[in-house]
Amino acid sequence: MSHRRSLRFSKATCPICGSQEVARDDLKGDLICTNCGEIVSRKETRAVGKFDIAQLLRRDGKMSFAKLRETTGASDDKLFGVLQSMVQMGLLQEISGKYSLTKRGQRWYRQRLGQEWGY
Ligand SMILES: [Zn+2]
Repeated sequence: MSHRRSLRFSKATCPICGSQEVARDDLKGDLICTNCGEIVSRKETRAVGKFDIAQLLRRDGKMSFAKLRETTGASDDKLFGVLQSMVQMGLLQEISGKYSLTKRGQRWYRQRLGQEWGY
């Protein structure tokens, strides 16, 4: 009797044990470490860009870290890194736990938007 599911190996590395034997479960779309059994969800490895953040803040005005994380599906580390670099660039400000775009950030967003649309 075989209990094999349709698993394909991916290029991901397990964040828990460091094994490179991480397989994709086509049924659920999850990445699973075949060594320790950790489910390496796709959300965890999703990249989030400055433009994405700016777009969200432009729409919602102010957002907390938790809300941004929930909306973008990014990992803590990645999201924090992007936010920090945007603060350093003067694009974002953080006031009592909520992030919002600065004037400079809004200008930056409009410029990037123009580039995206090919003005
Ligand atoms: Zn593992």
